[in-house]
Amino acid sequence: MIKKISRYSLFLAIFALFSGFVEAKNIDIQIIFTSDEHGWILKEGKDGGSAELFDQWLKKDSIDSRNTLIVSGGDNFTGPAISTYTKGAAALEVMNSMRYNYSILGNHEFDFGLDRLSEILKNSKFRYLAANLEFDKNIFPVNCVEPYASFNQNGVNVFILGLANNETPGLTSEKNIKGIRFVDYQKTLEKYKDQIKTADIAILLTHLCFEELEKLAPKAKALGFDLLCGGHCHRGIDKVYEDMPIVEGESYNRSYSNIKFRFDDTKKELRYLSFERSANLRDSKYEAISSIIDKWRDSTDIVLKAPIGYAESEIPAKSHELYNLILDSWLKAYPEAQVAFTNRGSIRQGIPKGDISLSTLMGIMPFDNELSIVEMSGKDLKFNIDSLKPVVAGINVKKGYKLSNGKTLQDDEKYLVIVNSFIYNNGDKYQIKNRSKLIKNTGVNMRVPLYDLIKKHKTSWNRALNTFLDSEKRVDDTNH
Ligand SMILES: [Zn+2]
Repeated sequence: MIKKISRYSLFLAIFALFSGFVEAKNIDIQIIFTSDEHGWILKEGKDGGSAELFDQWLKKDSIDSRNTLIVSGGDNFTGPAISTYTKGAAALEVMNSMRYNYSILGNHEFDFGLDRLSEILKNSKFRYLAANLEFDKNIFPVNCVEPYASFNQNGVNVFILGLANNETPGLTSEKNIKGIRFVDYQKTLEKYKDQIKTADIAILLTHLCFEELEKLAPKAKALGFDLLCGGHCHRGIDKVYEDMPIVEGESYNRSYSNIKFRFDDTKKELRYLSFERSANLRDSKYEAISSIIDKWRDSTDIVLKAPIGYAESEIPAKSHELYNLILDSWLKAYPEAQVAFTNRGSIRQGIPKGDISLSTLMGIMPFDNELSIVEMSGKDLKFNIDSLKPVVAGINVKKGYKLSNGKTLQDDEKYLVIVNSFIYNNGDKYQIKNRSKLIKNTGVNMRVPLYDLIKKHKTSWNRALNTFLDSEKRVDDTNH
């Protein structure tokens, strides 16, 4: 805790200065903070580069286990193919080697399902924290996520309280958070007030965006926190609230924060010296970590880069050809459904000219959302389509809501509709979960039907995928 310098301690300090009787003992501690790494271990374009980042920490920040704590604000996984395909294993081994001490459970840590999360927790050398989660011990392994960490680092009593993001239930499939209860942030802080008081330095490590941290700041300050760290919004914000730094991490290993504190062990006083954000300069790399990344890249390339089809020219990201190809593949995989739709944000890239591989598809749809089939009225279907302008199949909105069977959508009739689990859970402001009946959670990733369809077409340089495309405009072009 930062304490006010009293007259008495001032006297002691002066006395010590002249007499040499009480020798001030300063202990420096630095916090290296990243967030939302999203598996960007490989250096690609302006993103990524874990081996480079670690080398920078060694050279510029002189990290060592005595003076440094390395922590993450969560969302370690879900990003480029190397991370998503290995279900976090590649990124985890790299973060282990980077000597992270703690991470928060971000919403994306749940993406691979609870079983996989249990394995990740078992294999991580750093600990995951989340004080606002209550786990049903029958479903979730005991003691795998801790609410806080309390330890002595080089003579300084450190307390780190973790907060996961309470919006997680709307951001991942329901089954991925089964048996987990999310507790109010303020109540959680209150619960640990005694531990916070006894610490020399208290850190609130969270997966919360800056605005949420700002709301918590008065209470956190009153309770004795010295530093608030957050993530989730990827913006890289650095502010101070009454001498207490508040840091929101950036993302994709583009930058990191270094917050330096000095603890006077004689006076039991802590003050922060500086905090700065540094870009990942990527001008040198740490060989031991680089070789781990190379190993994962080589082993995954065999599967990820194997050609499954061919495009003779680019199929752009925001083209009706790509939209229709993807959404039609869903209806082909589940012919019992009449309509399919998805949020435009779920389709991130186009198909470049040349060989198409699983890696291409993971770039197009990087999210590990699954397909769900729901029963929905024509009225609710129209509501979602009209207000949020999704990409559709099985229906042509521009032709007056004409279905593939030639009939017109009826308000009071029920339809089987395929959606992804993200929008099913009302992500992106869709109204599905509360306006439909869940018929089936397929458990199948949304990119699988596209993978199957492209393979089925058996395309090659003399019979390219482009010849199978449908350019029909089913919805209006929009910036949604
Ligand atoms: Zn997040």
